[in-house]
Amino acid sequence: MRTLIALIACSIVAATASAADPGITPSTKNSVPKPIESIRPHSPAAASGGSGAGAASASASASASASAPAKSGAPVRARAMSEREREEQAEADLSAKIAARLAIMRANQAARVAQQAKAKKAAVAAAAVAAAPKVYSNHWSYEGESGPANWGRINPEWAKCSTGNRQSPIDIRDGMKVDLEQITFDYKPSSFNVTDNGHTVQVMVSGGNFITVGNRMYELMQFHFHRPSEERINGKGYEMVVHLVHKDAEGHLAVLALLLERGKPQPTIQTVWNNLPLEKFDTVSPSIVLDPMDLIPARRDYYTFMGSLTTPPCTEGVLWLVMKEPVQASPAQMALFSRLYPLNARPVQPASGRIVKESN
Ligand SMILES: [Zn+2]
Repeated sequence: MRTLIALIACSIVAATASAADPGITPSTKNSVPKPIESIRPHSPAAASGGSGAGAASASASASASASAPAKSGAPVRARAMSEREREEQAEADLSAKIAARLAIMRANQAARVAQQAKAKKAAVAAAAVAAAPKVYSNHWSYEGESGPANWGRINPEWAKCSTGNRQSPIDIRDGMKVDLEQITFDYKPSSFNVTDNGHTVQVMVSGGNFITVGNRMYELMQFHFHRPSEERINGKGYEMVVHLVHKDAEGHLAVLALLLERGKPQPTIQTVWNNLPLEKFDTVSPSIVLDPMDLIPARRDYYTFMGSLTTPPCTEGVLWLVMKEPVQASPAQMALFSRLYPLNARPVQPASGRIVKESN
């Protein structure tokens, strides 16, 4: 722009210089055409006034006058032009450089913004993953993909099912025969309810039923059934087993196992069967009572060892008490349970050198 202004200024100066030529004066304007020298500058008056010859000569003089100032101003204009061109070129170069720099800056900025957006997106995704940990299945069963061999892989909280070395059940053998203290039972008629929890029939018993063993008092929480028996004794399995789950005040678990063999009907089991829910996951809460003591055999000798829950999460640190004398139940009672759960027993687990004690 500055160049343009300078150029315009130069043109004006040149034009002014031509107009101010001493040859053009008011006195000559209206006079008869003068020799070319005297009318060098073109003038409207000179061009319009006079004869044709005069007009011609005026025209000639006009063309002469057009080129006359150019003769004296040509080098200046050339210099101005080249200077202007250089300036324009420099300006164009500068503009191009600025444009190029701007383009690079914009590209860098766009890249930074994209990078930041990408990083933010990744951070948000990572936060989402951290905030919403993977949801694991809670489904397990006794067969197939969700069967006992895979329990430890289904849910990290069930890892002990695979990695534990005090898992239950076990094949009980080579017990150390010692004078085991008697288990003290403090059971009484209690209200109860019966649930089919999808894995077994479970009987919840109201509070106040205790066993005492090893100077600890455990309260009965619930009992449930497996078919066939989970425990084996010297390799021998039983048709069913009842597990009575107890907990002490500090949360330690003690499970009393009653092996079932075919024989006479068992009244307490019959009471439970009488109150079976019609649907899985339903609960029946009868108005009658049930005395868990009616399940306990007359002979109280037992095996004891440390083990685990026999279902996920396979928690260890469970005190096992397995009564040596089986409890009888009728074939009809056994058959009834087998219609609900023909197989709900975890296979035996390695004893891994754990100590088994048994009543002498
Ligand atoms: Zn059980």
